[in-house]
Amino acid sequence: MRVAIVGGGLGGLTLARILHRHGLGAAVYERESHRAERTQGGSLDLHPESGQRALAAAGLEARFRSEARPQGEEHRILDPAGRVLVHHRPRPGSFAGRPEIDRRVLRDLLLDSLPEDTVAWDHRLVAAEPRPDGGFRLAFHGGRHADCDVLVGADGARSVVRPLLTDATPSAVSTLVSLTVDDADRRHPALADLVGPGNLWCVGERRILSGQRLGDGSIRVGISLPADDRDLDTYRSKRALLDLFAGWDPRLTALIEAGDGPPVPHRAEVLPVGTRWPHRPGVTLLGDAAHLMPPVGEGANQAMLDAADLAAALAADPADPDAAIRAYEEAMFARVQPIAEMCVRVQAMMLSPTAADDLVRFFTPRPAD
Ligand SMILES: Cc1cc2nc3c(=O)[nH]c(=O)nc-3n(C[C@H](O)[C@H](O)[C@H](O)COP(=O)(O)OP(=O)(O)OC[C@H]3O[C@@H](n4cnc5c(N)ncnc54)[C@H](O)[C@@H]3O)c2cc1C
Repeated sequence: MRVAIVGGGLGGLTLARILHRHGLGAAVYERESHRAERTQGGSLDLHPESGQRALAAAGLEARFRSEARPQGEEHRILDPAGRVLVHHRPRPGSFAGRPEIDRRVLRDLLLDSLPEDTVAWDHRLVAAEPRPDGGFRLAFHGGRHADCDVLVGADGARSVVRPLLTDATPSAVSTLVSLTVDDADRRHPALADLVGPGNLWCVGERRILSGQRLGDGSIRVGISLPADDRDLDTYRSKRALLDLFAGWDPRLTALIEAGDGPPVPHRAEVLPVGTRWPHRPGVTLLGDAAHLMPPVGEGANQAMLDAADLAAALAADPADPDAAIRAYEEAMFARVQPIAEMCVRVQAMMLSPTAADDLVRFFTPRPAD
C-alpha cells in the first residue's frame, strides 16, 4: 500500500509518524522548499483529549513535555482602557491543562521523528487524477509525478485534494493581522510585562488586540476584526491599524508600534459546518482540508487527532484501507461537527459588540452546584 500524504503540516506529519510507528511507510509531499521556509506562526495549546492524545500515539509525549510551556496557559483579558477583567494563572509547572508549544517547535519535533526521506519538499500538488486500475496519479508544480494507492489530503485551507470529494468551499469569517516583536524582554520590557508568559487579549467593540508570548522570547501580536471586503493592503500599514484602535490606552497600542517589520494581514476562512462527503475509495482528507474552522483553538488539535484516528484505522486493517477510511470518516464527521459549531459560536462572541462581557463570563469558572 503506497500512502501519499499531501501537506507536511501538523496533521500530515502526525499521520506519517504514527503510520511509521506501525511499520507502514508513507510519502509526504510538501510545497514548502524546506522546513524553515516560513515562520509557522505563533504558539498552540494542545488539549489532553486531542492534540496530546495524538502525540502519545506518536510516541512523542516525553519530547512534548520537555519542549512545552505550561506557564504559557496564563491569560489576561483587558478592556480598551487597560483594566484587567480576567487574569488566569495556571498551577506552576502543571501539565494537567493545555500547555502551550510554539508551532515551529512542534513541527520540528514531528519532522525529527521521521526517516529523513519521508518528506518530499518543494512538491506542490497541482492535480490528482484517478488511475484506471485504482489509486491516484499526482501531478506536482514543475512537471513531476507520483502514483499512490491511498491519497490523504492534509493540505490545509485551500486543499487541492478536497475537490475530489466535495464541492464545499471556504468563506471568510474574520480578518487577522499579525506582527512580531522580537526579543521582547530586553527591547520592550513593559510589553513583556503586559503580555506575561502566555496570552493577552484586549477586547473592544468588534475588535481584539492580542499578544502571545513565544518560547523564543518574541511576542506575536494579533488583531482580529470582522471579515470585510476591504483590500488586505489596507491593513499593511501600522498607521492604519493604530487608527482602528484610536482612544485605546497607549500601553496597549504600543504592541502595534513595537512590531518589527510591516503588519501581515490574512483572511481567516471556514468551511460550512457539517461538511461531509460520500466515501470514495482510496482518498480522504484530514485537518483543515476536511473541516476548516474559525481559529479559536481547535483546528490543530483536531487535525492531529484526525491523523491519530486515521493511522490507527489503517494500521488495524492494512489489507482493507477502504474499510479503514470509511470508519475514520464516519467517526471524524460525528466528532468534529459539534466542535465546529462551538468554534463558530465562540468566534461570533469574540467579535460581537458585547465581547468583553461575554468573554469574562466564558472564562469565569462557575461555582460548583
Ligand atoms: C491565527 C490562527 C491561530 C490559530 N490558533 C490555533 C490554536 O491555538 N489551536 C489550534 O488547535 N488551532 C489553531 N489554529 C488552527 C490551526 O492552525 C489549523 O487548524 C492547523 O494548522 C491545521 O493543520 P493541517 O495540518 O490540517 O493544515 P496546515 O497546518 O495548514 O498544513 C497544511 C500543509 O500543507 C501544505 N500545502 C498546502 N497546499 C499544498 C499543496 N498544494 N501541495 C503540497 N503541500 C501543500 C502547506 O504548506 C502546509 O505545510 C489557528 C489558526 C490561525 C489562522
